[in-house]
Amino acid sequence: RAKAVGKSGFVVFDEGMHQEALSRLQLETDFRLAFERAEFRLHYQPIVELASGRLVGAEALVRWWHPRRGLLTPADFLPLAEETGLIVDLDAWVLREACRQLGDWRARVPDFAALSMNVNVDERQMVSPGIVEEVFTLLQSHRIPPDRLRLEVTETAFRAGRGQAEQRLLSLKALGVGLVVDDFGTGYSSLESFAASPFDALKMDQVFIRDIETNPRHRAIVRTITSFADELGLALTAEGIETPAQRERLRAIGCQYGQGYLFSPALPADEFEQLLSGTARIVG
Ligand code: C2E
Ligand code: MG
Ligand code: MG
Ligand code: MG
Repeated sequence: RAKAVGKSGFVVFDEGMHQEALSRLQLETDFRLAFERAEFRLHYQPIVELASGRLVGAEALVRWWHPRRGLLTPADFLPLAEETGLIVDLDAWVLREACRQLGDWRARVPDFAALSMNVNVDERQMVSPGIVEEVFTLLQSHRIPPDRLRLEVTETAFRAGRGQAEQRLLSLKALGVGLVVDDFGTGYSSLESFAASPFDALKMDQVFIRDIETNPRHRAIVRTITSFADELGLALTAEGIETPAQRERLRAIGCQYGQGYLFSPALPADEFEQLLSGTARIVG
């Protein structure tokens, strides 16, 4: 807000900022109420094996059905959730709902036995007390084999010096839960920190995929990440695949899994379920 700080150093509130502060406060109030009003929903984006097109799992992505503003995506409310710390409550809800849904699917639809569920976990939730017990309890009560649940964390969650997150990750790993580095390639973690890390999988950020056809540097990075994952025995998923050309390129490079609008956007639970029951097909 530097532009609003006057010469005196006092913050000058103009009408626009007043409005902005009010609507932010309103959003925060609405956000707290959204839990009891049950306005959050999970959508599920298919993850496919690139060579075969086979569906291997889903990533749970949160949406907010706001009473006045309609469907909001994470970009509209995650920054606020992070600033206020409400992200911990949101992620706890997301984890519970994703496990409930997976348990329900597994109980009703035989084809779900082979699928896994990826859930995004904010760094703050990762260090929150009780996360390990919570995951353990959810797996038990919904009869989910631990390796069917994959927790996605960004590189910041395990940078050197984050001893607490590291401990939690090791405990979750001991439970048998899958651990995925999300948006790989965009953070600043050292390669050395991966040598001892408990991760099973990487997700290449979509920034490298978007222009893989036209940007030789990004193509080189994708190749490097692919052999890095290969050498370390990590599963690799490419995010944001939108065209057949991108898919072909990734397949040729040797990236095993993919996710993106070419296959499907994130879908409401009932539509995702139809993908499996054969009433809808993944094309791409
Ligand atoms: P992410 O985990 O990297 O998720 C991938 C994002 O890329 C999703 O956006 C997805 O809808 C979008 N996407 C998928 N395929 C394509 C494609 O082909 N092209 C393009 N341009 N985009 C694609 P979404 O759902 O808006 O989520 C944005 C971010 O918000 C996520 O990025 C994740 O970091 C965060 N997020 C979403 N749900 C949760 C949650 O429950 N908890 C936490 N902590 N973060 C979440
Ligand atoms: Mg993710
Ligand atoms: Mg990602
Ligand atoms: Mg991303």
